[in-house]
Amino acid sequence: MLVESVTLETPDTKSVRLRWPQGYDVDFKTGQFITLHWPDAPTYRRAYSLSSCALDRGHYEVTVKREGKMGTRLVDWANVGNLLHVLPPTGTFLPVYEPGKHLVCVAGGSGVTPFRAFIREANLRKLTTKITVLYSVRQPEDIIFRRDFEALAAENPNVKFLVTCTRVADAHAWTGRRGRVTADWMAEQTTDLSNTVFYACGSNEMVEMIKGIVANDLKLPKDQMKTEKWG
Ligand SMILES: Cc1cc2nc3c(=O)[nH]c(=O)nc-3n(C[C@H](O)[C@H](O)[C@H](O)COP(=O)(O)OP(=O)(O)OC[C@H]3O[C@@H](n4cnc5c(N)ncnc54)[C@H](O)[C@@H]3O)c2cc1C
Repeated sequence: MLVESVTLETPDTKSVRLRWPQGYDVDFKTGQFITLHWPDAPTYRRAYSLSSCALDRGHYEVTVKREGKMGTRLVDWANVGNLLHVLPPTGTFLPVYEPGKHLVCVAGGSGVTPFRAFIREANLRKLTTKITVLYSVRQPEDIIFRRDFEALAAENPNVKFLVTCTRVADAHAWTGRRGRVTADWMAEQTTDLSNTVFYACGSNEMVEMIKGIVANDLKLPKDQMKTEKWG
């Protein structure tokens, strides 16, 4: 697929929009990932969660951090007009859009990308499902899709976007929450634990940490926790 546009979201994160070829039209689900490879390296394939949702037709959008070989190549080199090979969307990290449910979506760093898709679909369909994003970054400059999330939350009273910064150099630069994601912070966001589904996406370490909190501190069964591990 042709790269239709690229957007630098933060100094080390880029969104790449891939235009569907003529006649291409697949059904997929919000929260799934595609697999990409460059034409000159067909065996080096890597997965990327879609930051666009199932209602966005005509293109896929992925949002990539400059990390590792593929991440660096995409952020530093992907440009309009490039050709990238795309394997169709797959995956089971899917939002449960039921009216009484509350989705609490915990992300670290670039792991926030599928949650933008979760909220895009909820807003476009005017769903009443509650969605809260708990997002951990080092510094405010690292917040991916900050304006986008704030706009999505402003147009939908069921959506909350909450950020915690783990390393703020200048105390004046961030007046919001600081420190890591904790069991207390997660519990504070929930009003009806039995109807809450937790989602965690990002590095294995972060996802395991959140899984531990949900199982051991909040004492919820496995079916109330969905994870997407990136390695
Ligand atoms: C289902 C799935 C969805 C993914 N979605 C995205 C996405 O939307 N955006 C994205 O940037 N990456 C995503 N990744 C990671 C991506 O597939 C690549 O692993 C990443 O771009 C690094 O490239 P590489 O594997 O060539 O790195 P390598 O040179 O093989 O090095 C990999 C190293 O980078 C670490 N790593 C990989 N990705 C990240 C990351 N984003 N942040 C911190 N450390 C990381 C791994 O733990 C490992 O140590 C996803 C992975 C999976 C399995």
